[in-house]
Amino acid sequence: MNKILEVENLTFKYEQESNDVQLKGVTFDVFSGEWLSIIGKNGSGKSTTARLIDGLLEGFTGAIKIDGQLLSQENVWDLRRKIGMVFQNPDNQFVGATVEDDVAFGMENQGIPREEMIRRVDEALGAVNMLDFKKKEPARLSGGQKQRVAVAGIIALRPEIIILDESTSMLDPTGRAEIMRVIHDIKDKYHLTVLSITHDLDEAAHSDRILVMSDGKIIRQATPAELFASDEDMVEIGLDVPFSANLMADLRELTFGNIPEKYLDDEEL
Ligand code: ADP
Repeated sequence: MNKILEVENLTFKYEQESNDVQLKGVTFDVFSGEWLSIIGKNGSGKSTTARLIDGLLEGFTGAIKIDGQLLSQENVWDLRRKIGMVFQNPDNQFVGATVEDDVAFGMENQGIPREEMIRRVDEALGAVNMLDFKKKEPARLSGGQKQRVAVAGIIALRPEIIILDESTSMLDPTGRAEIMRVIHDIKDKYHLTVLSITHDLDEAAHSDRILVMSDGKIIRQATPAELFASDEDMVEIGLDVPFSANLMADLRELTFGNIPEKYLDDEEL
């Protein structure tokens, strides 16, 4: 399979003169079309990794290759176009007075012709089930609807990778489910690769592969089935407990009915 993203020995500290190192040799690949989740405790370096990949921070050592091209200060603006990032807080991502203006904003910046822009606004809003809200003010939408509009603004720009940085963590269960459904739908339709930073085990269970970060390093790479069937303490690696009924159903499927005992205790809670 084709590697869309290669991260090699990524090392970074926010303040060059300080002794604290926030990323300590992070190495992983992401394959084209894959859904990869990154999990781990707060402060383990997940967002920093995402920000570096999206070219938002300077001064790292190691290498980031996007679609085979080495990220550098010279090509950062070109390579950033291959990535769309959805952040945590739906309220911080709006720039337009209406939903359609908002979706068009990124395209205006890229100088996409007006006719094409109008076509893509409708298409992208349709893809996230928000076409009926086209003329509405973003402030009036629910959290889940706002995040769907943010996703529409991204897919209108035709990225290859979508990075979700805790994008569902401020949403209620309905909003979360809406976003997950939309990401699943658009992933295939637009041939996207998904890199998702999450605390939601249910969401991680649905991904193709999971990376676990701790203290600026990747301590585990596994499929959901491998990770959930192992003896690892999920609280220790930064995941939510107790588990929901949904997650128990996922686990039953992933472990072919042989759910490790540690989870069965949780089910009784
Ligand atoms: P996570 O996403 O896993 O919660 P982060 O990547 O946000 O972790 O943070 C990793 C480490 O970097 C933490 O120790 C955090 O305090 C530190 N950090 C994050 N952002 C900044 C910043 N802007 N300036 C200085 N330190 C930061």
